[in-house]
Amino acid sequence: MNDGLQICIHRGTNQIGGSCVELQYAGKRIVVDLGLPLDAELEATDLPDIPSIHSDDGSLLGFLLSHGHRDHWGLLPKLPPAINVHLGRKTLSIMTAAAPFIPGGYAPVASVTYSDGQQFELGPFKITPYLMDHSGFDAYGFLIEVGGKRVYYSGDIRGHGRKAALFERFIKSPPSAIDVLLMEGSSLGRLQAGERFETEAEIENRLLDVMKTASGMVLVACSAQNIDRVVSVYRAAKRSGRQLLVDAYAAEVLKATDTKSIPKPTEEWSDVKVYIPQAQRRFLKEKNIASLVDAYKGRRVFPEALRSEAARSVMIIRPWMLRDLERAGALDEATAVWSQWDGYLKDETGTRFVEACAASSIRFEIIHTSGHADPHDLKRFSEAVSPMKLVPIHTFHPEQFDGLFANVVRSSDGEWFNA
Ligand SMILES: [Zn+2]
Ligand SMILES: [Zn+2]
Repeated sequence: MNDGLQICIHRGTNQIGGSCVELQYAGKRIVVDLGLPLDAELEATDLPDIPSIHSDDGSLLGFLLSHGHRDHWGLLPKLPPAINVHLGRKTLSIMTAAAPFIPGGYAPVASVTYSDGQQFELGPFKITPYLMDHSGFDAYGFLIEVGGKRVYYSGDIRGHGRKAALFERFIKSPPSAIDVLLMEGSSLGRLQAGERFETEAEIENRLLDVMKTASGMVLVACSAQNIDRVVSVYRAAKRSGRQLLVDAYAAEVLKATDTKSIPKPTEEWSDVKVYIPQAQRRFLKEKNIASLVDAYKGRRVFPEALRSEAARSVMIIRPWMLRDLERAGALDEATAVWSQWDGYLKDETGTRFVEACAASSIRFEIIHTSGHADPHDLKRFSEAVSPMKLVPIHTFHPEQFDGLFANVVRSSDGEWFNA
C-alpha cells in the first residue's frame, strides 16, 4: 500500500444494502456505513474484513453513518461499543425512539452527532455532511477531504420527495473538484430508460382520491420511519376531512423527528390521535415502557370508539394490526393501501395481509414511490459533481452505470483502489 488515500468498498459494489466503505490515509482509517445486506439475518452475517475494528492500534478513527436505514447501520450492533459512531442528531433520536419497538432495534452506544454543512475532523479526514432528500429522514451524503484528495459519498438520494429542494440545492452548488464519487444506483434495473418515479406530491394526490371515495376506514401500510410518506398520508387525510391515527411506535418516531412541520400526537396537531392495539399494550408493559402512553393523554382513541370513528379516520398500520381492528369492528367498508415497496408483498407477511384483506372484503390499493433517485436524476447528480472517477455502489446493476454516466470505474467488494 502507498501513502495516498486508498478506498475499499467492503460491501455494496453489486448489491443494494450492506453498504460499507473504508478509507485509509497515512495509517488512519474511517468507515462509512456498516449495513446489513437486504434479506440477511444479523446473527448469520459476519462483519466485513476490517482488521482495525478488532485492534487497539488507534488507526480506526470512527464510523460515519449516512442515515437510519438498516441496510446502512444493520451491522453496527456487532461493533465493540467503544468505537464512535458519527450520525445526524435526528437520526440518533429516531433510532433511539424506534429501538424498543423493532426486532433487532439499536442505537449506538458511543454516538457523536454532526450537522448539515458543518465540517468536522477525524484525524487527517475533513468531513462535511450534506443533508439530502431520501425516504429515510435526516439522510446525508459526505464530502471527505484528505491528503489533497476529495471524495464524495452520495449516501441514498432522490430528487422527487418532500425535500426535493435539498436535491436541487446540491445540483446548484455541488462540491467541486471531486476525485472520486461513490454514487448509489438503486433504481437501475427497476425502471425502463426514460421512465420517472412519481413524486411524493403525486402520491399525496392519489392517497387523497382513495380517502375521498372510501366510505369506511382507510388503512395505510407504510413505514412510520418514512416520514415523507407519513406527511403525505397526513396531508391527504386532512384534505379529505379525516383524522390520522397512529400506534405508539409511529407516535414515538414522529415525536423523535423533533421537527415542527412533522405531524405528531401533540397539542399542536389536534387531528393526529393514538390508537394502541391490544398486542402493543401488552408489549409496552413487557418492555417496561407503558408509561410513555401518559404523554398521549387526551389524544387517544380507544377500541370501543374505533367503530364509530372509522369513517372519518385514516390509520397507519402494520399488517399484524388488522386482526385487532377486526375485533374492534372497525373494518366495515374499509380500504387498505399498501404504501411501501411491493416486493414485500411477496413475503409471508405481505401474502397473508393480502389474503386477510380479501377475506374481510377490504378494498386493496398500492400507492407508493421509490425512496431513491431515478436514472434521470442520478444523471443530473453525477453531471453536477462531474468527478474524475465515478464508482458505483448500492446497486444490483453496476454494469448499467457505463451507459448512463461519465468516468465510471467499477470496483469489486473488498478491493482497494487509489483515489
Ligand atoms: Zn436508505
Ligand atoms: Zn440504502
